[in-house]
Amino acid sequence: MNARIGNLHIALEQRYCAHNYAPLPVVLSRGHGVWLWDDQGHRYMDMMSAYSAVSFGHANVALVEALTQQAQRLSVTSRAFYSDRLGLFLQRLCEMTAMERALPMNSGAEAVETAIKAARKWAYKRKGVADGRARIVVCRGNFAGRTTTIVGFSSEAQYRDGFGPFDGGFDSVPFGDAAALEAAITPDTAAFLVEPIQGEGGIIVPPEGYLRQCREICTRHRVLMICDEVQTGLGRTGRLLACDHEGVRPDGLVLGKALGGGLLAVSAFLASSEVMDVFSPGDHGSTFGGNALAAAVGFKALELLQDGALAANAERLGKRLREGLRAIGHPAIREVRGKGLLIGMDLDPHVIGARAFCERLMAHGILSKETHETVVRFAPPLVIDDEQIDTALRAIGEVFHEIPLVQPQGEST
Ligand SMILES: *Cc1c(COP(=O)(O)O)cnc(C)c1O
Repeated sequence: MNARIGNLHIALEQRYCAHNYAPLPVVLSRGHGVWLWDDQGHRYMDMMSAYSAVSFGHANVALVEALTQQAQRLSVTSRAFYSDRLGLFLQRLCEMTAMERALPMNSGAEAVETAIKAARKWAYKRKGVADGRARIVVCRGNFAGRTTTIVGFSSEAQYRDGFGPFDGGFDSVPFGDAAALEAAITPDTAAFLVEPIQGEGGIIVPPEGYLRQCREICTRHRVLMICDEVQTGLGRTGRLLACDHEGVRPDGLVLGKALGGGLLAVSAFLASSEVMDVFSPGDHGSTFGGNALAAAVGFKALELLQDGALAANAERLGKRLREGLRAIGHPAIREVRGKGLLIGMDLDPHVIGARAFCERLMAHGILSKETHETVVRFAPPLVIDDEQIDTALRAIGEVFHEIPLVQPQGEST
């Protein structure tokens, strides 16, 4: 690691880039499949997948082909005109997710903002909520991006600190508690915005049946159920959508990250016609949203998911990885949780912090990143195979071997 301190690229980023991240000290220069190489030629397995954006692996041949072919034909025209790519992409997106309409954006945060605007306007124009009074119920521990509106409803102090004033209009309830959702609903409630599994919140899986109960409550009170599947969607949890585990279809769906095939920022808000029809020309938009290049790549990404094989791989290998992690049986491991290949390993911070663990993992050829102080995330590209999972498990086991044995807090006598 010390050899990197003098690295030119690290020095340049530290000198010229805003310090809004704390990267691990590795300078990546190439990727293929689940593998990444640094500028010294060392190989690492990617257990991070750019926060689940690289589901198809790095430099996926089919996606790079779709990108380069389209880039030579047409990329950005704005939606002042039609293109011969957007409609085909959105048709496939709506058909695969069983939603009626889609509004294409770029980042996940923009698509969440779109969902918020749609929900509020639907409340005023369709539900009859008095102007300016619409409210949206969110869950504690949520993560939905970094715009001022979105951090305004975060429960994470650091995400908010220094960025107010916030405009309000959000009510917070505990995640996983359907009764709390019902208690928070008033006649002014437009929507319930929820991640089926909280990703950045620490890979938190709600109790079985939670989404079904929320669906029933939202229907009964005429509140839109909007699922933020920016991270959990598109095969990551072992199904196309994490909602599919409970057979729930939301009124609004937010997708991003993997939708761009790990090559571009492509996101979308999807909804019923009743909700989407509140938008008229001029209400909302994005210069790059739905551009032909994004549409061509998104179309190919969806094609790669269509037969369900990648989701099935995520389900099977996620189980293998979780069972392997549990079998390590180290006293520092408080919990291994997740669905499919969205996995969190919760560590006892008195033994080792998640950041320190990730630094040691890097020395063993595995790249990952902590979420909060205690959770190590394992979210490899969905194209990973059995042998690669076992390679990762061996490296993780080696890291546990080197950790000095400190009696975990609470277990000492
Ligand atoms: C990453 C993420 C977002 C925000 O996506 P960006 O592309 O970073 O704006 C929104 N919701 C969830 C659940 C996410 O994980």
